[in-house]
Amino acid sequence: MQTDFLVIGSGIAGLTYALKVAEACPGKKVTILTKTQSDETNTKYAQGGIAGVMDLDHDSFSKHIEDTLISGDGLCNRRIVEIVVKEGVQRIEELISWGAEFDKEPEGDFKLGKEGGHSENRILHHKDITGKEMERTLLEAIKKCSNIQLINHCFVLDIITQHHLGYLVTKSTPDIECYGVYVLNLNSKKIEKIVAKISLLAAGGNGQVYRSTTNPAIATGDGVAMVYRAKGRIENMEFIQFHPTALYEAGIRGHSFLITEAVRGDGGILRNPKGEAFMERYDVRKDLAPRDIVARAIDSEMKINGTEFVYLDCRHMDHEKFLEHFPNIYAKCLSIGIDVSKDMIPVSPAAHYSCGGVKTDEWGHTSIKNLFASGECASTGLHGANRLASNSLLEAMVFSHRSYLAAMQDIESIFFNDHIPDWNAAGTTAPNEMILITQSLKELKLLMSDYVGIVRNNERLQRANRRLDLLHEETESLYQRIEVSPQLCELRNMITVAYLIVKSAELRKESRGLHFNTDYPYQGEILQNTIL
Ligand SMILES: Cc1cc2nc3c(=O)[nH]c(=O)nc-3n(C[C@H](O)[C@H](O)[C@H](O)COP(=O)(O)OP(=O)(O)OC[C@H]3O[C@@H](n4cnc5c(N)ncnc54)[C@H](O)[C@@H]3O)c2cc1C
Repeated sequence: MQTDFLVIGSGIAGLTYALKVAEACPGKKVTILTKTQSDETNTKYAQGGIAGVMDLDHDSFSKHIEDTLISGDGLCNRRIVEIVVKEGVQRIEELISWGAEFDKEPEGDFKLGKEGGHSENRILHHKDITGKEMERTLLEAIKKCSNIQLINHCFVLDIITQHHLGYLVTKSTPDIECYGVYVLNLNSKKIEKIVAKISLLAAGGNGQVYRSTTNPAIATGDGVAMVYRAKGRIENMEFIQFHPTALYEAGIRGHSFLITEAVRGDGGILRNPKGEAFMERYDVRKDLAPRDIVARAIDSEMKINGTEFVYLDCRHMDHEKFLEHFPNIYAKCLSIGIDVSKDMIPVSPAAHYSCGGVKTDEWGHTSIKNLFASGECASTGLHGANRLASNSLLEAMVFSHRSYLAAMQDIESIFFNDHIPDWNAAGTTAPNEMILITQSLKELKLLMSDYVGIVRNNERLQRANRRLDLLHEETESLYQRIEVSPQLCELRNMITVAYLIVKSAELRKESRGLHFNTDYPYQGEILQNTIL
């Protein structure tokens, strides 16, 4: 198959870009690939909302910029922060023009929420299902574009570069180029090649590397792993954000239900099992301190009290308002016997967001020619060492727009590469047992949660490294012998991503933002990105 524009991923980043290139080039073909259903994305699960300076009477660009820089703990790229904050408002207005609805006051102004680290109310939201509303809007808009083809159940295995033409490609090879992708088409059960002029990687996050995560099963870091294999640049992988408040359900691991920060924004209070409101002992901003501080405080309280969770107390909050703003959370809690007006909600931290990823410039270019990246798989310089809440949906829209503008400059001068060989599956056989994959996956998640979680130290990182080496060796051997499957490829990708997280964590000889290593106190002056 040949396509002018290839889009890997159908979350906010992929769909925004696809819509724009399709509308700008009605005569060109746009193909969106997604590995399961088109709406099964991190985007769909976003609750709190999207940050934007919509009320200039009370808020300003400079305040949003400052809040983002403070949260990023010295590693944000100021220019990128300014771009995202200033251009973000136009992107939000565009989304509204495509049909997205955000909650409004009776007088017609937007109801703007507040979340940790924000100095003003600036979070637009659609009840507590903002991401679902955005995904719905974008998927509906996509349907109206006749030059867009969206293929579900099409698993991208690798991006095609000069390596597949038989050339030696290393990190120092100049002008590595992307010619398209190999995919495992789960509809035809065949490995196919899709040749593209320009590709956008919008493959989302990697929360599934950890045992407990708010991310759905698709978030296995495939995009980052593919680019790393293709010798592209990856940065800041040590900065994994743990959401402080995922709903704790005994025995439930994998995809935890999120209790958005907006609940604390509206007055929810964290309490330990003794009923103490403990956040005042950790930060003057109490329950609205940035996420890393709140997550570490909860981790510490859980360790002190020997529990697997703390409580979020909403009993004092206006019940009618709670129901109106958080109907989904209310219903979920009730479904497991928790009435938030009478009972406290058990919560614990869970892996939530990857701040690092594929390194891009301010137009979304990666270090590989004709390959752009946007959304959670990208590292644009916005988040630095810690993402400010509700900045990621905004970043995805801004960078998908910028990637579209840059792609428009290039598209007429790029030609299809007609010399791409077929996928070589010689020597592989059908697998006769899955246990070799499922057990390794369990081991991977455990070691990452226990050794490379919220609090790290050098010995834990060394141990993680040694165990990863073994998992890597065994999985590569399996990969050489058996036919590829999504399960095998995801495991392989997650091992690569885990390696990148551990390696970056080892390189950072300080505690900063989300990376907290008890062997290194916070120093303040080392301000460089870890690039692999
Ligand atoms: C529970 C939860 C709540 C959140 N709340 C907020 C919030 O309130 N505000 C905010 O700003 N951010 C929030 N976030 C973060 C935000 O939702 C994500 O960062 C953002 O949606 C990522 O969008 P994306 O387009 O980059 O990726 P995604 O939306 O995750 O889409 C990834 C796409 O890539 C595809 N894909 C991946 N690998 C492959 C492969 N190998 N082959 C083919 N396709 C592939 C997937 O199928 C999917 O279509 C939240 C995240 C979660 C999980």
